[in-house]
Amino acid sequence: MLNIVLFGPPGAGKGTQSEKLIEKYQLKHISTGDLFRWHTKNDTPLGIKVKEIMNSGELVSDDITIAMLKEEVEKNPGAKGFLFDGFPRTVAQAQALDDLMKSMDTEIHKVIELKVSEDEVKKRIAKRREESGRADDADDKLIKRIDEYFNKTVHVLPFYSQSNRLTTVNGIGDIDQISLSIIDILDN
Ligand code: AMP
Repeated sequence: MLNIVLFGPPGAGKGTQSEKLIEKYQLKHISTGDLFRWHTKNDTPLGIKVKEIMNSGELVSDDITIAMLKEEVEKNPGAKGFLFDGFPRTVAQAQALDDLMKSMDTEIHKVIELKVSEDEVKKRIAKRREESGRADDADDKLIKRIDEYFNKTVHVLPFYSQSNRLTTVNGIGDIDQISLSIIDILDN
């Protein structure tokens, strides 16, 4: 199995890179953001529970997120591997993911951080605002999500660097070149 975590702030290009990697390595893509959006769109009990917090751009609680993630992993017993996108976002989630992998006799092999600075992602939003000529509610939410990333989620990185699983890739530049850098890391 090959199990990887793709890390990076909103707007770093995680979605694009995930698509390329799941195709190349035949991985099951698990994005907790996509799962939560599916639940809210379909008004499931879980969706109703998390709608407000998601709309605020804050993080859903660890127990809810971990339970949903576990269920999704367990739905795919024959997977060649998993690509986790948007999870873990807290140390408790990272620990729970290690425990889950261990219970399946496997592990998280590599964690790729797509590095884009806070200034750069915020500049991109400011530029978009200028171009559209108005401040958008969606932009405010995005700024909140970016703040959450740089205030909370980045604290997960030492958890993985201490166990030698973290590699940082420059997230600014040519998309195909970034993919090649990631593939190089995963193949070695
Ligand atoms: P994303 O598309 O990954 O940015 O996720 C969208 C929203 O879903 C986030 O702003 C959070 O409210 C929620 N969410 C997604 N993944 C997680 C996670 N691992 N932990 C807590 N909340 C999450």
